[in-house]
Amino acid sequence: MLFYGKEGIMAREKALIGIRLAGLSEGVHEFEFNCMAAEFGDPALSEAGFSEEVSVNVTVEKMEGEMIVTLKTFAVADLTCDLCLAPITAELNGSYRIFYSYEQANERDEEYRLIDRNTVSLDLTEDVRETLLLSVPMKVTCTDNPDCRVFHQEELGEPGEDRKPDSDWQESLEKLKNKYR
Ligand SMILES: [Zn+2]
Repeated sequence: MLFYGKEGIMAREKALIGIRLAGLSEGVHEFEFNCMAAEFGDPALSEAGFSEEVSVNVTVEKMEGEMIVTLKTFAVADLTCDLCLAPITAELNGSYRIFYSYEQANERDEEYRLIDRNTVSLDLTEDVRETLLLSVPMKVTCTDNPDCRVFHQEELGEPGEDRKPDSDWQESLEKLKNKYR
């Protein structure tokens, strides 16, 4: 997808996550950002469980005709178990890579975003926000909560105390069939 002049349209005084491109030499540059999740001003982030500090590592690879920006996010999120709704605090890592081209991209290069060679600064706030949201796992379940339904199911599947040590093989097989029915 192409985002024509997206950075130019952003008229914010100072980007939350912004890279100054003017004067940046060719090569690899690393930037670190720390901010609070609330500073993004997006209710979706708090709904997703982000309420604490967010750390962002940005690597800019500036080359002659293109630029590659790699975002890495690290944040703690308050989630809930899908099965028992117990609160879970999880450390979430996200990453995202953006390709920028100074030239008019042709159809083959549709993954490149067009950027003006003279762009002074790059606002990555929106990309970081999306990367954070994408770092939330689709499924969340307890890992150490004995009251969780996952553990209960395992317990129910285990042989009961009435199990005879020398019960014959056929009977065990029948039990097994019932167990997984
Ligand atoms: Zn659970």
